[in-house]
Amino acid sequence: MKKLIQGVHSFQTDYLTTHREMFELLSQGQHPRILFITCSDSRIDPNLITQAEPGEMFIIRNAGNIIPPYGATNGGEGAAVEYAIRALGIKDIVVCGHSHCGAMKGLLKLGKLAEEMPIVYEWLKHAEATRQTILDNYQNLEGEKLLQVTIEENILTQLENLRTYPIIRSRLHNGQLQLHGWIYHIETGEILEHDPVRGQYVPPQTQFSRASWLTPQQQERIYKGSAASYTSEIK
Ligand SMILES: [Zn+2]
Repeated sequence: MKKLIQGVHSFQTDYLTTHREMFELLSQGQHPRILFITCSDSRIDPNLITQAEPGEMFIIRNAGNIIPPYGATNGGEGAAVEYAIRALGIKDIVVCGHSHCGAMKGLLKLGKLAEEMPIVYEWLKHAEATRQTILDNYQNLEGEKLLQVTIEENILTQLENLRTYPIIRSRLHNGQLQLHGWIYHIETGEILEHDPVRGQYVPPQTQFSRASWLTPQQQERIYKGSAASYTSEIK
């Protein structure tokens, strides 16, 4: 805890004072362009791995980057998805899984979890389609390779779960929303995106529909170092 409190102090005295204008702007409202869904794993830092600034991404985190299908639960995930799309007008959703995911390891030995961690067991049932796909198609794999495939398949399962939400289906139908499946490799920092045409994970080349809520000049002034990549993306 001591280190955490020191961090808070350092944030307030160093970072905040040099980014005052950005925080004043953020206090007037949020206009994120991305809904980023990832695992609770402490090794994942969404803003670090995407170099996004505060206010750019609306984030849902839980064990296994899972979105229960529409109507399956009254948990916070559905509410956050609905709010992101209806209230914030978000047009891109990223489901980002990661290498060495403990939740996916748990999914591979789901039966053992029932007594040991009953709440985790219930939660991971929302990834049942992933487990079934693995049982049906990857019986020949084991160890790290099996885990890797499970992580990759689970990202696709969660994209399917997202498609069960009426608001998502409607926006996808109208071309007002894009879904992206990412996998982050902790050891290399590499991020790959699922290409549905090729049926494999490839380096991301997606045209994000990120709209401009700041002019390029404003961004340059506020975000300084990160402005170059951000503005080039908008152009
Ligand atoms: Zn994980």
